[in-house]
Amino acid sequence: MVRKLAFLLYLMPLFIFAQLQSPSEFLGYEIGTEFSRHADVVSYFEHVAANSVMVKYFDYGKTNERRRLTYAVISSEENLANLEQIRTDNLKNIGILSGSANPDKTIVWLSYNVHGNEASSSEAAMNTVYKLITEHSDWLKSVVVIMDPGVNPDGRDRYVNWYNQVKASPYNSSRDAIEHNEPWPGGRPNHYLFDLNRDWMWASQVETQQRLKIYNQWMPQIHVDFHEQFINNPYYFAPGAEPYHEIITDWQREFQNKIGKNNAKYFDKNGWLFFTRESFDLLYPSYGDTYPLYMGAIGMTYEQAGHGMAGLGIINDEDIELTLVDRVAHHTTTGLSTIEVASQQAASLNSEFKKFFQNDNLKYKSFVLKGNPDNLKALTKMLDRHEIKYGYATGGSVSGFNYSENKKGAMDAKGALVVSTNQPKGKMVQVLFEPNAALSTPITYDITAWSLPYAFGLETVASTTFVPAMGANPNNTVSNTSSPIAAGYIAKWNSLQDAEFLSALLQANIKVRFSENELGFGGNTFGPGSLIITRSDNKNNVDFDKTLIEIANEMGRQLYASPTSFADNLTDFGSQYVHLIKNKKIAMLQGEGTSSLSYGALWHFFETQLKYPITSINTGDIGNIQWSDYDVLILPDGYYKSILSDDAFKSLEQWINKGGRVIAIGNAVATFEGKEGFDLKKNGDEKAEKEKDTLGNMIPYVQRELESTKDFITGSIYKVMLDNTHPLAFGYGDTYYSLKLGSDSYKFLNDGYNVGYIKEPESVSGFSGEKAKAALKNSIVFAEAKKGKGSVVYMVDDVSFRSFWQNGKLFLANAVFFIN
Ligand SMILES: [Zn+2]
Repeated sequence: MVRKLAFLLYLMPLFIFAQLQSPSEFLGYEIGTEFSRHADVVSYFEHVAANSVMVKYFDYGKTNERRRLTYAVISSEENLANLEQIRTDNLKNIGILSGSANPDKTIVWLSYNVHGNEASSSEAAMNTVYKLITEHSDWLKSVVVIMDPGVNPDGRDRYVNWYNQVKASPYNSSRDAIEHNEPWPGGRPNHYLFDLNRDWMWASQVETQQRLKIYNQWMPQIHVDFHEQFINNPYYFAPGAEPYHEIITDWQREFQNKIGKNNAKYFDKNGWLFFTRESFDLLYPSYGDTYPLYMGAIGMTYEQAGHGMAGLGIINDEDIELTLVDRVAHHTTTGLSTIEVASQQAASLNSEFKKFFQNDNLKYKSFVLKGNPDNLKALTKMLDRHEIKYGYATGGSVSGFNYSENKKGAMDAKGALVVSTNQPKGKMVQVLFEPNAALSTPITYDITAWSLPYAFGLETVASTTFVPAMGANPNNTVSNTSSPIAAGYIAKWNSLQDAEFLSALLQANIKVRFSENELGFGGNTFGPGSLIITRSDNKNNVDFDKTLIEIANEMGRQLYASPTSFADNLTDFGSQYVHLIKNKKIAMLQGEGTSSLSYGALWHFFETQLKYPITSINTGDIGNIQWSDYDVLILPDGYYKSILSDDAFKSLEQWINKGGRVIAIGNAVATFEGKEGFDLKKNGDEKAEKEKDTLGNMIPYVQRELESTKDFITGSIYKVMLDNTHPLAFGYGDTYYSLKLGSDSYKFLNDGYNVGYIKEPESVSGFSGEKAKAALKNSIVFAEAKKGKGSVVYMVDDVSFRSFWQNGKLFLANAVFFIN
């Protein structure tokens, strides 16, 4: 017993010292000398939370690959005991919760590693939490710090696991070494290859969806998104570059300066280079800096030299070795410096934060939207994720800016969706719905248009007077009943949800037809594309009615049961214009040469939205594909000229001639340009060459960047004329608004169908360079070239881009199910 006691006493001091360990002690290597896997980072934060009264650690969800999404809340012991009060006081201060409060604590949110291969930041997160609680706990009296050590764990581990497998020991700093050349698709995106730093607003990804719930509970006053840039650019911190969105307040601009100068103080002291204000503009609302800015915070991006090529150490162009140790030190420094400023400015942060949420002076008071109920529902679902409020109009006519007429106009508003700016998040409402964002300079590296009425294809009026609305949702639930004597059922075709319904029916082995003509049955009319599910097609399926009704009710699809297949007008169920829909076998290319973003968005579309199986095939395996195994081949945006050898192209062509169908998206369209039989030519090549000769040398050097924007379209919205008698445009009206992501312009097809085209190029929203815009005159957006028994569908604009252009997604479903 005595001996036992002595033994325990002997161990006691060790226990005390062993309690809180630094990252290096805990992980067994100096931070920056190895890459830590996500699970290691999580373990360290668990260790810190278990051994510090200043840290609490929570899970907020899981990734697609089942990795944990987590956040730590770090503050003084007293504040942590009072956390719920601090949180709700903050929301009361800005009117999100009712009641009054005078908060004196400020909330700083630090997000690490949103781009998985910008991997120094999760290492810095571990360092930062340790230094914060061991060296700077005095700051925590007035600050609550929320740290998300890994926003994109699937991407991080894709990078780290790859790096750890290929790296030399000791590491090799030559740029040629394999450890500096990541294979496709790289660790930047998440599982579905989405860039999570473009997804804050659209929230199409599970990581974003789960994070926003916590973000909305906290509404931080400062948000920092840690990134890495190319190895030669030293370090970037706020203030950001023009263009700033005009909704950003003077105070938000000034405060960025304040933080920037504090960061600069430490960088100067250590002799570290940095730059500010030259790049990383603040416009597109879906970034980790702009989204928080439009939600009232000081949103900032910090960019360290590094990135997927940097590894543990690399020689850059200036012959300097950039090491992970240095990268971690820099990100740790700026994180701490930001918290320091917050701790000194808690009072002003709270008072200015409150002001941001008062929205009396916004130009538009209400946005009134109506149209396809499924698109409206998709929109409200997105607004719900941001806890933005809306209602339904009680009154009659509203007037204001009419989006489809692109000028002042009126609309009958009864029952329409109303989103108003007289709510705490009114500034974000303005940013999302206003027809056009003002640009101080066109030099931006992202899209300049996202106006939601166009993206969701809704008839909209923006009103400068407030439009009264009630909260009740007019959506009625659909309840079909089985009609065993019906000759068949008809369902309308107007939205992605209708396509999802078709997908479910096909997979339940129910046979479905679609009509090329408008249908009339029992006094009802159904537009082209409407689905017909006949008893005669499904006579061998004893559960036919039951299965169909169950799926339709579950998916909220209204069915019309017709007692007869004899139509009111021409088209009966057995008409030559009513076609059986084949359960198509779809292949899609991915891998080297394809755009990982485009492939990923399409993969996500088929897997999680349309819920229809596809076979993804690596471009390296093209030579082994039996094309005849598939009905449809999808080519995501990419550069196929290098991938498709002459032989591969020839066999593809033979397959098309026999009835194969290609859907070429974005730059994949160029694969067929000038190829015999594919009817595709670029617009305006001759003219551009001529202009080059006359203007080429006239541009002052200093204006070169601005001058180059004349050829740019980086994302602006154009009106497209539609031939909606062609199956590719079934379910649409005769016009459509398309997000143009580039200046590619192709001539009208001579032999094929020009389904969607631009006649007079008129951009309704966003920046377009004048030359690029002019070149869009008489160009195709969607077209079908017939070849032998098959065809190629050209989709010049990528409708699945970032998964937010809701109204474009039906084109994809049409292309898959209806063409042929
Ligand atoms: Zn980044």
